Amino acid sequence: MNPKKLIYPVFLPQAGCPFQCVYCNQFAVTSGESGDLLTAARARLDLHAEQVRSSGRPGEAAFYGGTFTALPQPVMTGILDHAAFLVDRGIFTGIRFSTRPDCLGEDICEILAGFPVKTIELGAQSLSDSVLGASRRGYAAQQVIDASACVRRRGWSLGIQLMAGLPGDSASIFLESVRRTIAMGPDFVRIYPALVLKGSRLAEMFSSGAYRPLGLDDAIDWVVPGFSMLLHAGIPAARMGLHADPALNRPGVVLAGANHPAFGYLVRCRWWRDRIEKELGGRAGGSLSIRAAPNFISEIIGPERCNIGYFESGLKFGKVQVKGDPELTGMQFILKISD
Ligand code: SF4
Repeated sequence: MNPKKLIYPVFLPQAGCPFQCVYCNQFAVTSGESGDLLTAARARLDLHAEQVRSSGRPGEAAFYGGTFTALPQPVMTGILDHAAFLVDRGIFTGIRFSTRPDCLGEDICEILAGFPVKTIELGAQSLSDSVLGASRRGYAAQQVIDASACVRRRGWSLGIQLMAGLPGDSASIFLESVRRTIAMGPDFVRIYPALVLKGSRLAEMFSSGAYRPLGLDDAIDWVVPGFSMLLHAGIPAARMGLHADPALNRPGVVLAGANHPAFGYLVRCRWWRDRIEKELGGRAGGSLSIRAAPNFISEIIGPERCNIGYFESGLKFGKVQVKGDPELTGMQFILKISD
């Protein structure tokens, strides 16, 4: 799966959801459709279709923000029918959606098989039964594994969404969730730090002191090794951190937690810093030259040159230079230390 492929999203806030999950308030974080869902979803698809006709850039029609496969069946198939009609006409390249793992049994997959579905994202959030229980998700890790197998058997692309820092989670439990996720062989993974959103159950737990979300530094510390594991497994981290929907940035929407519009960038910057520090193997002092492919230079330098500051102040290098080298491919880098 190419995570950069064009996606035409339709947000259906909490539509089909059996209950409101502890961390969720889709109405607060997305500018979604309201009113009659079938009519609203069709209208949004038509708007996207107009956009594709004028831009000449087809992409996948995507349904996010709820539990797509738990919509009343006539609504789900009505939306799929309309999307499939536009796929037939070359407007969309296929259909993708996110759903809960416990709402994707064989019976639903059988219905979906009649439509041009390309990608299914499972909102797993964790592969730990204790975290899933403490977060009242309403299913166990085995259901995530079963639903993933169902997606795989049908030949659809599989995306897994994980959340770091839910009630009962820890850095090691989160990494075990990443490890179990990799074992399911997804095509891509999204990782979000758990946030406290207004109107959510977590907001009540937060105000009573029963829950404390990860701060930005802790969230980065937790996610960097998970990102590294995904890289080693050749699985793209299609997104880290919530999509910066304008609704998310309205004052009072995020009450606490690691909310940063460039969370993924911060994770990648720290990953480069850790990797270079490891390669240095304790060497310090003198001048440090770092060469890497030009597209990684900004991540190596870090926001406000924080990685350079770390190498200079933390590791005592007098001068640090980072240069783009088009000869270097992938995530290769070359270090040179001189007096
Ligand atoms: S987290 Fe997902 S399943 Fe839970 S209420 Fe929100 S949209 Fe629905």
